[in-house]
Amino acid sequence: MEYIEKVLSELKAKNPHEPEFHQAATEILNGLKPVVKAHPEYEKVALLERFVEPERVVMFRVPWVDDAGNVHVNKGYRVQFNSAIGPYKGGLRFHPSVNLSIIKFLGLEQILKNSLTGLPIGGGKGGSDFDPKGKSDMEVMRFCQSFMTELFRHIGQDTDVPAGDIGVGGREIGYLFGQYKRIADEHAGVLTGRGLSYGGSLARTEATGYGLVYMVEEALKCRGDGLKGKTVVVSGAGNVAIYAAQKAISLGAKVVAMYDSNGYIYDKNGVQVEVIKQIKEVERGRIKAYADRVKGAEYHEGCKGIWSIPCDIALPCATQNELDAAGAQLLIKNGVKLVGEGANMPTTLEGIALLQKAGVVFLPAKAANAGGVATSALEMAQSSGRMFWSFEEVDSKLKGIMVNIYHNMDEAAKEYGVAGDYVAGANIAGFTKVASAMMAQGIV
Ligand code: NDP
Repeated sequence: MEYIEKVLSELKAKNPHEPEFHQAATEILNGLKPVVKAHPEYEKVALLERFVEPERVVMFRVPWVDDAGNVHVNKGYRVQFNSAIGPYKGGLRFHPSVNLSIIKFLGLEQILKNSLTGLPIGGGKGGSDFDPKGKSDMEVMRFCQSFMTELFRHIGQDTDVPAGDIGVGGREIGYLFGQYKRIADEHAGVLTGRGLSYGGSLARTEATGYGLVYMVEEALKCRGDGLKGKTVVVSGAGNVAIYAAQKAISLGAKVVAMYDSNGYIYDKNGVQVEVIKQIKEVERGRIKAYADRVKGAEYHEGCKGIWSIPCDIALPCATQNELDAAGAQLLIKNGVKLVGEGANMPTTLEGIALLQKAGVVFLPAKAANAGGVATSALEMAQSSGRMFWSFEEVDSKLKGIMVNIYHNMDEAAKEYGVAGDYVAGANIAGFTKVASAMMAQGIV
């Protein structure tokens, strides 16, 4: 379609060194073809051009001092992408690979993900090329304090509410919040993923992984099937991966493999999530230790081999582009039935095309991992209402939201003539609400 091609080619020309941003925009805009065709008025007001251009990008210096007294300088980012339907909302990622392209791809995805939750939250994302791995608690604290010393002036409970992502868990959120409170002199719900003793929500830690599995279960249920007895491969060993594995197991599946950035473990008897939690959450160690502790488990150096393990369901939950065409081909060859994306953009465009062509049920990230941000929005509601809901209450709201998102994207795909294509369905269902709010608010 001419309009979409024009927007994509302008986007690539204006942002030449941002491959991840190009990839995300290509996937999203191509999925929107039927809806853009049905709304010629969008082109007249340059709606897509505005949609792919962040409202604001903040980049800043983050200087900090390590335990030995050496001074380091990292880059800090906050991309406030779209506030048409609510305050900017989206995580902070601390990882050496972070750059503007990655933050923009995540921010663009986040707009539609947040819209899909049905809650009033706009899209944003941020982070730094700081690597928390191998740093002492005090070093992480000093970095977080320096990062927040600049970020605090750009965020607020009705403006922009960051959360965690890769490398930003409970410890980092605590340090960031402490510094915000100290500078702004307010105990506000300005970050989510907070600890339970200072305004956090029960079930937020589990939400993204649990939410992913609730959607998988619903997709299987609609096909007269369920997770019971299924073999599952989960990539990653962080927040999303651990709780996805835990929930899949509790619903009767067998998780046989997981990885961290060094290599994967294969446990034919079923991965013991408590051992993974001890190694990754408590000891901040390497997954390799699992094979030393659990009889019969194997460790393999390198990550890609994980996709050669036969499974019914694959849940990529680590990072972008971890499941490429070669991985998808291996999964298909071994009879995979469903792929649910826990991470953001973990499957390459070629990988998605292969899986969809082979008839594999493909649940895209912006729908399948929306449980985290949905529960963050529930945390915001609890904060502003000075309320505290039980685990069961939050968990059952989360489940309702995930089931709802599944049916919304399923129906949107059917309505626009692309039944079963959930990539298109999720993009369309998320976009229509944002587009309608942007149309109503004029050229801004
Ligand atoms: P964590 O930092 O808790 O865990 C990330 C995991 O992925 C770690 O096991 C890490 O390995 C592994 N990993 C990171 N980079 C690579 C790589 N290049 N190759 C192989 N493995 C890698 O992050 P989260 O679990 O929070 O996030 C995982 C994904 O889920 C991200 O894409 C994030 O954007 C997405 N997401 C997270 C949400 C949340 O609520 N946390 C919400 C929605 C999406 P190692 O231990 O070696 O570092």
